[in-house]
Amino acid sequence: MLRIGCHLSASGGFMAMGRAAASIGAGCFQFFTRNPRGGAAKAVDPQDAADFRAFAAQNDICCLLAHAPYTLNACAADPKILNFARTTMADDLQRMEYVPGSLYNFHPGSHVGQGTEAGIELIAETLNLVLRPEQSTTVLLETMAGKGSEVGGRFEELRAVIDRVELDSHVGVCLDTCHVSDGGYDIVHDLDGVLEEFDRVVGLERLRAIHVNDSKNPFGSHKDRHELIGQGSIGLEAFERLINHPALRGLPFYLETPNDLAGYGQEIALLRSLYHQAD
Ligand code: FE
Ligand code: FE
Ligand code: ZN
Repeated sequence: MLRIGCHLSASGGFMAMGRAAASIGAGCFQFFTRNPRGGAAKAVDPQDAADFRAFAAQNDICCLLAHAPYTLNACAADPKILNFARTTMADDLQRMEYVPGSLYNFHPGSHVGQGTEAGIELIAETLNLVLRPEQSTTVLLETMAGKGSEVGGRFEELRAVIDRVELDSHVGVCLDTCHVSDGGYDIVHDLDGVLEEFDRVVGLERLRAIHVNDSKNPFGSHKDRHELIGQGSIGLEAFERLINHPALRGLPFYLETPNDLAGYGQEIALLRSLYHQAD
């Protein structure tokens, strides 16, 4: 079975997201833990979370992926911004225990002139401060396009962060197709090679989620602008190879294309029609 879903608005709570996912045939979904530009989070309604857990079990929905706000910079130079990142992540992870066994994705950060090495150290320090042995959520570092001073545009940088994390069994990676293509990993012509490199550098067992996005920009552009599936520089055939790749079998796939709910439903149906594996 292809486990595929999309990004949904969290404003109506968990049950609303569950119903939206079910209505378009999604088997998983992603949402922002709070306003993507930061700010306070709405309190979780325990009843809504409990209703959702039952609904998800009945409708074969799993693998919730909470996305941290974009403004969160786990390697900021400004202590106030760094502190916001750490407080937000710790708070988000506590709230995620209402939906146990989920995933929490964040952009590793921008080193803002401190250098990649210093960025890596600060991101690892952030994770060492917020991870708890008893948490059921796996925290994912997202592969980035490498724009500006972004950390995480190279697989080696993700590996370096993970190597410095004490509770590393709670840490994995989310691979974003738009970001890696913009970042110079040729998933269109050499998907096998890219996944082999990922395995050699990070380890495929760390790969826990895929963001499925086409790209508005050419290979290696270091830009990060998502496009509808099949309408960008990656193209539909590359996505067919991606969802059918044996190394990615069983992973959850999340669309973050510029789309509305009906459009996501069409993209899910399109990708399902291209899925060959009979499992
Ligand atoms: Fe992201
Ligand atoms: Fe992404
Ligand atoms: Zn992106």
